Amino acid sequence: MSAFYSKRIASILPYVAGEQPKDRKYVKLNTNENPYPPSPKAEAALHGFDAASLKLYPPLEMRGLREAIARAEGVAPENVFCGNGSDEILAFCFPAFFDEGGAGAAFADVTYSFYPVFCNFFGIPAHILPLNEDFTLDLGALSALPAQGMVVANPNAPTGIGIPLSAIEPFVRENAGRIVILDEAYMPFFGQSAVPLTKTCKNLVVVKTFSKGYALAGMRCGYAIADRELIAGLERCRDSFNSYPVDSVCQAVCAAAIGDADYYRERTAQVISERERLTEQLQKRGFFVLPSAANFVFARHAARGGREVYEGLRARGVLVRHFGVERIREFCRITVGTAAENDALLSALDDLLSR
Ligand SMILES: *Cc1c(COP(=O)(O)O)cnc(C)c1O
Repeated sequence: MSAFYSKRIASILPYVAGEQPKDRKYVKLNTNENPYPPSPKAEAALHGFDAASLKLYPPLEMRGLREAIARAEGVAPENVFCGNGSDEILAFCFPAFFDEGGAGAAFADVTYSFYPVFCNFFGIPAHILPLNEDFTLDLGALSALPAQGMVVANPNAPTGIGIPLSAIEPFVRENAGRIVILDEAYMPFFGQSAVPLTKTCKNLVVVKTFSKGYALAGMRCGYAIADRELIAGLERCRDSFNSYPVDSVCQAVCAAAIGDADYYRERTAQVISERERLTEQLQKRGFFVLPSAANFVFARHAARGGREVYEGLRARGVLVRHFGVERIREFCRITVGTAAENDALLSALDDLLSR
């Protein structure tokens, strides 16, 4: 550690992303990427992109992209904020809506592990609510915490559990005096987005991404939908770091992607149908599988440990994600792949379990 580090940088614990190994070819089911390619319209936008235009800075207002998102989400472009991945938008949300050393942010103990990293980085106290025994979230208990606001991933990661909109709506309304951030990274696979609530709830920010549902993880684009005043807060934050977080190519490709609803509806249906098959097949092999509303399943074997399953699969060329932390040590998070990838996972498991 360099003596030149600031106290902040010296003391933080950065987020650790899932591995992207190059040592051999893996069946890669560890970072919840979409198993299918992005829409042909997105590909056409990429190939048709005018490279000469790259000499200019990207469109500052991101009009084309924000209009395309607004159309797809049924909101106005002024209610859309775009960022370099939804991780960046979440990184803006924390300093934009929570005070350093203030009342803090409330979220679950088992959820996206970036939230405590942001709290730590920005000096925001974290109120951590343990999920129920069955890994569901008690929204009433979350509201009861004396926090400045709440952050909820819906569907949750890494559990995959979805909270129906009928429960989210009263939760957001009861907390009208506090900020509520909903991380809907996996919402395409659940279909109960809270975006319509942003029209009447001035305390709600819904954060979404092109990475999972739109098969564009490599493009790095996410967006937030909220009341205009909240969007303006995110813009203030962005313009204190980087005025151009979303490049011109990205704007063109993502605008084309989100316009191709038919393509994605079909792909999403395939992922969901494979998710149900994978769940059944894992259960047949002695796994307890949490009910998933996402493009991954979270599963624990009756007799084999989480680490053993992870390492055994890795040795057989299949990558899944294992979190060596309390409560979820015996689980593996398995991304839903194509039918062929899921079959490869299941045969690797059969081999592992037969020893
Ligand atoms: C993948 C993921 C994100 C962020 O994805 P980006 O690629 O940065 O858009 C955000 N939240 C959760 C819960 C995720 O799993």
